[in-house]
Amino acid sequence: MTGFFSSGAEDKRVFYKTDEEVELMRQANLIVSKTLGYVGTLLRPGITGAEIDKAAETFVRDHKGRPAFKGYHGFPATLCVSYNDIVVHGIPGKRAFKETDIVSVDCGVELEGFYGDAAFTFAFSKVEEQTMELLRVTYASLYKGIEQAVHGKRMGDISFAIQDYCERQHSYGIVRDLVGHGIGRSLHEDPEVPNYGRRGKGPLLMDGLALAIEPMVNMGVREVYQDSDGWTIHTRDRKPSAHYEHSVVVRKGKADILSTHEFVFDAVKNNDSLREVSPKN
Ligand code: MG
Ligand code: MG
Repeated sequence: MTGFFSSGAEDKRVFYKTDEEVELMRQANLIVSKTLGYVGTLLRPGITGAEIDKAAETFVRDHKGRPAFKGYHGFPATLCVSYNDIVVHGIPGKRAFKETDIVSVDCGVELEGFYGDAAFTFAFSKVEEQTMELLRVTYASLYKGIEQAVHGKRMGDISFAIQDYCERQHSYGIVRDLVGHGIGRSLHEDPEVPNYGRRGKGPLLMDGLALAIEPMVNMGVREVYQDSDGWTIHTRDRKPSAHYEHSVVVRKGKADILSTHEFVFDAVKNNDSLREVSPKN
């Protein structure tokens, strides 16, 4: 799940995690990552978001996790399921998926008081090539951002890296109304992690800072609007949007990525062009 820009996290303090806390977050993120992989095994044309969500909730609880989104400010489900022009925060519903769909699945898990949060936009088998390109660019931009999540850099270095990578190649719209976030004992902690910004600006990144980095990139305009359900965020021009997320910890030299998409890539075969843009390790 993403934060709303400047809406305020639950806890405005910035926490630096101890090694023990990071290990608990890694365990929470392992459940998140396995859940995304499990979702990948279920996704097929005809299945609905509600069906996937029900199975994912059972899966998370079977792994001793608590679905972190369920009940969060009244959100009714374990997953955010956001297809096609839905950017994020889609409520899993009764619409059956089609072979031409893309669908962002976002999962949060709380385990022993610590949170994990990650997302992956899946492509069904008949997605248009220009939409696959949107997915590849957005996915690669996540890792461009993560590359900057090192001790001594500033938030603007992450933000700029994501924005620059996406805008350099295409006239995509980087969503500004929603942002990544600090994470740890709360799902949303400070600082905010915008997907646009200026190099060298913003809060200093220091060892032990845990962040959910999550580019949201639209094929068309960057403007979005919220559905009357109070959650679902659509692109204004109804063109497709992509969303990928990892939870990471800022470290000296190189970020520690707590979540993984390896379970997703093991589960789904027609998303290999995405795997190729992720770093090897
Ligand atoms: Mg999320
Ligand atoms: Mg998030």
